[in-house]
Amino acid sequence: MRDDLQQPGYEQARLYALRQLNLLDTPPSESFDRITRLASKFFGMPIAAVSLTDADRQWFKSRVGVEHWEIPRFKACCGEVADESKVLVVPDLLESSTYRDSMLADSGIRFYAGAPLQTQEGYTLGAMCVLDTQPRELTAEEVALLQDMAAMVMAQIELQHAFGRIDPLTGLPNRSQLAEDLDDMARDAPGRRHCALFTEVLDISQVSTLNRVMGPSYVDELSRLAARGLQEVLSEKCRLYSVGPCQFVHLVDVCSDEELLEGALRLREALLSLELINEAPILVRPVVGVAPLCLGADMAADVLRTAHSACQDARLTEMGAGIYSQALDAKHRRRFMLHSDFRAALNAPDQLRLVYQPRIELSTNRCLGVEALLRWRHPTLGEVSPAEFIPLVEDTPLARPLTAWVIYTAIDQARDWHRQGLNIGVSLNVSACNLDEDDFAERLLSQMSKADLPASAIELELTETALFDQGQAAWEQLDHLIEAGIRIAIDDFGTGYSSLAYLQDIPAQVVKIDRSFIKGLDDAPRSRTLVESMLNMAHSLGYRVVAEGVETQRTYDYLESLGCNEAQGFLMSRPLEAQDFEAWLLKSKA
Ligand code: C2E
Ligand code: CA
Ligand code: CA
Repeated sequence: MRDDLQQPGYEQARLYALRQLNLLDTPPSESFDRITRLASKFFGMPIAAVSLTDADRQWFKSRVGVEHWEIPRFKACCGEVADESKVLVVPDLLESSTYRDSMLADSGIRFYAGAPLQTQEGYTLGAMCVLDTQPRELTAEEVALLQDMAAMVMAQIELQHAFGRIDPLTGLPNRSQLAEDLDDMARDAPGRRHCALFTEVLDISQVSTLNRVMGPSYVDELSRLAARGLQEVLSEKCRLYSVGPCQFVHLVDVCSDEELLEGALRLREALLSLELINEAPILVRPVVGVAPLCLGADMAADVLRTAHSACQDARLTEMGAGIYSQALDAKHRRRFMLHSDFRAALNAPDQLRLVYQPRIELSTNRCLGVEALLRWRHPTLGEVSPAEFIPLVEDTPLARPLTAWVIYTAIDQARDWHRQGLNIGVSLNVSACNLDEDDFAERLLSQMSKADLPASAIELELTETALFDQGQAAWEQLDHLIEAGIRIAIDDFGTGYSSLAYLQDIPAQVVKIDRSFIKGLDDAPRSRTLVESMLNMAHSLGYRVVAEGVETQRTYDYLESLGCNEAQGFLMSRPLEAQDFEAWLLKSKA
């Protein structure tokens, strides 16, 4: 036996190498059959095979003159070739003490010759073998030929393996190779830490712009030049991978953040000095993202994802290079998750609900209505604030079913209160895009009439921006609603347009002064002046004014003294579940 074969773990590593090649149990292939046919013909023997040594069997990738695909490894000559990693010639099996009683001898085989199929790393996968039913000898020249054929088989195996692991454009190893290399490295040094540097010359939108404007060969050329430019900066030993169009990855040892960033910026400089990048018809801003990785713990896909995420973050800063931030990544992932889970929430029976925050008339201390506020209990993230998820879905096709859900639920609740004899108006928050639905007013009005609700029972809140950025179709929806007697409130008043003059043109009846102005009333004289002038202006134009976010009695009293119509805020009540609101209402009347 060879020395290294006695090393513990050799057989395990050998099997790993074999399985990595994904050859076992694959269909026959002409490229191997050609070689076995040649061997059988050349040696004038009835049987030839490419035989791979698995844990407990010999499996034939290619065979001539044998029926079966596999035989047990026990007492198989090819198994010995795999163990010993050298040519084995058995002139007569019946004369061999080892093989006399083997399955091969039993099936009438007398002669065996096998040459090892050896990888570049020195693992013997099995044997290229020829067999005869007669005893015979092999000359040294014939042995050499059998070894040549084994080498041809190995070349074929390695070629096939490399195919799909090399990026044809840059000639660099690709993502699959990166995954395989990380696996290999993890076997050698599990738990060792490295950093992955992800260099992106162009982002995906720039790639498609360039493809469109310049044709695909332009980006190809850019990829090729960038690959060369990067490799020149990196040491020769450093393996650069091509992981996407104009995207490259390489691994470095762990070092300080400063050193990492310095290295990253050096790569970026190298790219910026490329002529093709400088002369590109669009501004090309290469970025480099750095992400830590732990061999064995992080899969290649994770490494690519985190490093690319660092890249995308680097794109947002002017730095051009950045280190992966778990917090930032978690934020992106949370946003993505909320966004993609919201559809399910709309259809789930128990994830969404409305809570109601009372609005108090200051002159009478009576509650005239409530604002309906959406709540989402996410199955894994728990309660998510509407301030977080609404902006995420507002500009998507989900905005429509979202508002439809709110309207349906609020009308149901309003009907319930009306049947109980409670004269409570419900204010709903509506997104700008809802007004683009040309049946929005129609549907709302028909649902209200089915529920026997008077127009005064529902009010719609829209932000200034939402109201102002509307086209003709949206104004028609608004006019339709106002004609039917539905009140429109301008929400978050004061935070949108700086000019108050537009107020004259908006067909609303209520102005809700944003809580950021109300908050400062107790101690900032400037806020007082602002609120006072907003109130006067709104009143003179005939609006009813509601102050949001009233948290102290002082603010409440001050607003009352100014003649503000209604107030809403934690001082009076937080948003409440429907039943809790009913109880609150009873108590407040008592
Ligand atoms: P908004 O329309 O300005 O709603 C008022 C927000 O102020 C609510 O936050 C409410 O809980 C909070 N608030 C009320 N009083 C006080 C107070 O005294 N102090 C403080 N600090 N906050 C107070 P919430 O429920 O988190 O809603 C946030 C935003 O989400 C809403 O702001 C609104 O823009 C949006 N939103 C909520 N529900 C819906 C909905 O059904 N549809 C749409 N399109 N948007 C909604
Ligand atoms: Ca509101
Ligand atoms: Ca508001």
